[in-house]
Amino acid sequence: MTQKGLPIIISAPSGTGKTTTCKRLIQEMPDLRIATSHTTRKIRDGEIDGVDYFFISKKEFETKKNNNGFLEWAQVHTEYYGTSFESIEKPQQEGLDILLELDVQGVDSLRNMKFKGSYILILPPSIEEITKRLRKRGTETEESIERRVNTGKEEIKKYKEYDYVITNFNVEETVKSILAIVQAEKSRVARYIPTSNDIKELLG
Ligand code: 5GP
Repeated sequence: MTQKGLPIIISAPSGTGKTTTCKRLIQEMPDLRIATSHTTRKIRDGEIDGVDYFFISKKEFETKKNNNGFLEWAQVHTEYYGTSFESIEKPQQEGLDILLELDVQGVDSLRNMKFKGSYILILPPSIEEITKRLRKRGTETEESIERRVNTGKEEIKKYKEYDYVITNFNVEETVKSILAIVQAEKSRVARYIPTSNDIKELLG
């Protein structure tokens, strides 16, 4: 029995299939809430403001940053991304699990502040594969694809920042692996909360 929510921090090079994986994960974990980030990047077709991200201007981002509104923030590619305090506060207070989708700089920041959670890196089967997927997605220019692939390569090199690494050959298998990780993390002795007074007494 566990009662406190688990922060799950997920990173993946662009084009790895992270968004699809996270959407499936939400369906499988009813107590999981996504910490919706703020970004200055342009909204893509099919995205919803306030759901996929809070899309804001560079000026608004700057103001929020200067007001200490972000748990962490980073410049990724050419745009800014940040996790606001309010995006994690409510689920945290309610004891729900929280999903944070961050780039490796965000992971670095959270590690430095000793933010507790399960840090998971999702990798593509190959670099060739992400290049193909990004082209197929058709949301990026060739220049942007090249930049995303290069950033992805740098991210892969930082794999030791994470607790777990999963190769995304197939979304369903990847989701299963994440669920197994979550279950194991939640069963850690350190997270155990006694379920009755008699057990509590035994634990001293
Ligand atoms: P995209 O533009 O493809 O949605 O995201 C680009 C990158 O920014 C991804 O690696 C994504 O995980 C990362 N990202 C999204 N939100 C945040 C955030 O709040 N903080 C940080 N550090 N990275 C983020």
